Amino acid sequence: MDLVSDTIAISGATLLVHGGAWDIPDDVLDDHRDGLVQAWDTGQAALETGDPALDVVTEVVAVLEGHGAFDAGCGSMLNQDGVAELDAGVMDGQTGAYGSVMATKRLRHPVQVARRLLDAGEGQVRMLAGEGAERFAAAEGFELVDNNTLVSDRERERYERLRDQAATVHTSDSFLPGAVDPKTGERLPDAGHDTVGCVVCDTDGHLAAATSTGGTPFKPPGRVGDSPLPGAGFYADEDVAVSCTGWGEAIAAVVLAHDIAGRIHRGTAAEPAARAALTRMHDRVTGPSGRGARGGCIVCTSTEAAIAYTTPRMARATDDGIRVG
Ligand code: ASP
Repeated sequence: MDLVSDTIAISGATLLVHGGAWDIPDDVLDDHRDGLVQAWDTGQAALETGDPALDVVTEVVAVLEGHGAFDAGCGSMLNQDGVAELDAGVMDGQTGAYGSVMATKRLRHPVQVARRLLDAGEGQVRMLAGEGAERFAAAEGFELVDNNTLVSDRERERYERLRDQAATVHTSDSFLPGAVDPKTGERLPDAGHDTVGCVVCDTDGHLAAATSTGGTPFKPPGRVGDSPLPGAGFYADEDVAVSCTGWGEAIAAVVLAHDIAGRIHRGTAAEPAARAALTRMHDRVTGPSGRGARGGCIVCTSTEAAIAYTTPRMARATDDGIRVG
């Protein structure tokens, strides 16, 4: 297994953003870069004005949801019914409060609704699914949009192609290097996932994490992966914030974000903690092809930051620059 990881040197407030980990095709790299630049600029400006970590992660992820290049918000991949079904979660490290929404079809910015739930749920409700999430959003003054407004031409075309192919493709395969359709032996350029996420340490040293996704392409209606599950696709506490991307069923099985946080609590530095947790997931969960589960993550504490991925590429923005390889 190839594993790429980096320690990111930080000073003061810290922002890390990701735009998905998979075999990102060359022809969409510029779009990913563009989205990451916009997200990075928004996040940096918010941090400079002293915004709290929770606000910054929400704002950054909302920019990515609105950009169109990613599998999140507008431009998400479609399920087997040809419908965009979105998940998002956000967590405040200082208080341990989180909010998450899943399998939503009418929210333009699921991360903003998750954030509102974090406050308005008052600890009685933290996760809302489908219509319940949409009813909550409407009651809180969010506009409910027609699902078509979340569907791009690019994703409609991908859906049409996948309709023929998907029965033979396992979700886990598309995170592998050089993933191929087992039936035809052809490369799988269509089976990507550009889940987005952000972790922040603000000027007061408080941490937050957020993740948003349209999930896996051609997923069964109602399928929910790791992204809106606290501890799996996102996690933050007083010491560490993590956002993950990759094969969601595997990430949930090993509770990846919390695994990384736990290693850091036990004294491991961020970069080796991320490496060890991704290695464990790879060794512990295999797909039908017999190959280990892949994914990626961004991690920060108040003193250090790291990125790591076992997929061919991961799009990310850090103090080390905007990278897509
Ligand atoms: N983890 C996401 C999911 O399984 C997909 C991704 O990260 O690309 O829904």
